[in-house]
Amino acid sequence: MPEPHVPLLVQSLLMAVFGSLLGSFSNVVILRMAEGRSVVFPPSACPHCHHELSPLDLIPVFGWILLGGACRYCRAPISWQYPLVEFAAALILGSSLWVCGGSPLLVPTAAWGMIWLVQAVLLAREEMRAPGPFLWSIPAFLLLSWMAGAGFRPVQLAAFVVGGAAGWLATRGPSPGLFFPWFGSGLMVGLAHPVWGWWGPAALVLLAGLFPRVPAPRGRWALKAVVVGLHVTGIALAIGLGVWQP
Ligand SMILES: [Zn+2]
Repeated sequence: MPEPHVPLLVQSLLMAVFGSLLGSFSNVVILRMAEGRSVVFPPSACPHCHHELSPLDLIPVFGWILLGGACRYCRAPISWQYPLVEFAAALILGSSLWVCGGSPLLVPTAAWGMIWLVQAVLLAREEMRAPGPFLWSIPAFLLLSWMAGAGFRPVQLAAFVVGGAAGWLATRGPSPGLFFPWFGSGLMVGLAHPVWGWWGPAALVLLAGLFPRVPAPRGRWALKAVVVGLHVTGIALAIGLGVWQP
């Protein structure tokens, strides 16, 4: 019996729907990681009136749009972070399938994009007070790289060290508010070496030299915009060019 042929576009759209659900879960992880709470219990509730949310409220992206960005029960505004992360996750998973098809590169490409997305949001929320969220992504990177048969090259380790050091050098200060965004971006740029090349860490040092000293509060927005922009560019390049190619 011939296998039913589902066009790649339809597969990619279905993957995007799955991605939006994964993005919805990522929102929960981001929020509860920041507060040090369990990811599984209790079920999602409005942070303002604590009313438990219905499945209808939890539909990714459209739930937020249908509610007009406010809680159904108390009308407290709901952060636009939720639909944005859900939409970004849909885009990451959908485009990963569109680019990689059924190749073994699909899983690491999509997973790496998701790790990067969560870290970008944590950075934007200024909830990075320890290097932990960056450090767990390194074994994840190695495992996925190995699973995709891409292998791990010494040059990547070198780029990783250079990327991390670039972030560290660029801050030259004890302020964790500045150190972690740059250090984290340095690690990410280093790990995605085949995409960024050696100009990645160099550009990072340049940006970090230009942006951390802009006066607050405008400076914080500039820093966030640059760091998040760096991560979004990294995700797009990694998917588009295939950071995982052996
Ligand atoms: Zn409410």
